[in-house]
Amino acid sequence: MSEHRHEHDRGPHRVGQVKEVTSLANPIVKDLKALAQKKTRDETKTFMAEGLKLVIDALELGWAIRTLVYAKAAKGKPHVEQVAAKTFARGGLVLEVSEKVMSAITRRDNPQMVVGVFEQRYTPLKDLRPGTGETYVALDRVRDPGNLGTIIRTADAAGASGVILVGDTTDPFSLETVRATMGSVFAMPVTKASVADFLRWKKEAGVKVVATHLAGAVDYRTIDYKGRPVVLLMGNEQAGIPDELAQAADALARIPQAGRADSLNLAIATGVMLFEARRHLLSLDGSE
Ligand code: SAM
Repeated sequence: MSEHRHEHDRGPHRVGQVKEVTSLANPIVKDLKALAQKKTRDETKTFMAEGLKLVIDALELGWAIRTLVYAKAAKGKPHVEQVAAKTFARGGLVLEVSEKVMSAITRRDNPQMVVGVFEQRYTPLKDLRPGTGETYVALDRVRDPGNLGTIIRTADAAGASGVILVGDTTDPFSLETVRATMGSVFAMPVTKASVADFLRWKKEAGVKVVATHLAGAVDYRTIDYKGRPVVLLMGNEQAGIPDELAQAADALARIPQAGRADSLNLAIATGVMLFEARRHLLSLDGSE
């Protein structure tokens, strides 16, 4: 290889040094594996996202990257070089690892080629000031990571402005949830709130809370979603919405059902509600 070519190949990495890691016993690998535990994610306030496209999107949206990990086979690919250069420029660490290490970090047999570790981000409740045409989803004690991820993705697709996690919920930054969001975790603001704070905010924010309830008396298709900003309040997978929240709602909506199923899956019910509440705002050409 010529001097020049060699120099060119190293180009994007000039500001930093790629660390090669092949041993599972390497302490950095142990730290990355530990991100599978909520305790570690809470302590470090970081999380892991898999896939080159997700990492590119996250960087474009200004998320702070701590570590970029790529598999040896991805070395030299232009997009990988670009994200590596961006990671260095933002003070992050870049690791080139064996497939075995990648599998261990992501806990997958066929891991992605690229993984990023990002700083977590929550939007404070007090910063949410909904305006006309805005829709939020509030989730009461959501338990299932797949449901939460799917809801974040669906809220993004429907043009909602944010997801509010009320009470003790599953972690939006777990690997499983992030996977299910398909990248929308980087686009959809997520807020945490206690029941008391949520109810206080509801009064001040001038929103219409439409709670969904299996005993709801109102057909969800007859509700006015146009007047005020709307918060769709969805209940816990097992218990549904507690009385305290149901009583504070402006409407108790029900999706009519046929067949033998007792209820809809939480993420499906949220999708149905979101696209009804935003029906007047969505069109095929994407204009609102
Ligand atoms: N056993 C729970 C109950 O009695 O409420 C069922 C909860 S359901 C699996 C989870 C959430 O999805 C509900 O709290 C509600 O927010 C929403 N949901 C599911 N089916 C619905 C329907 N037909 N109408 C309105 N909301 C529904």
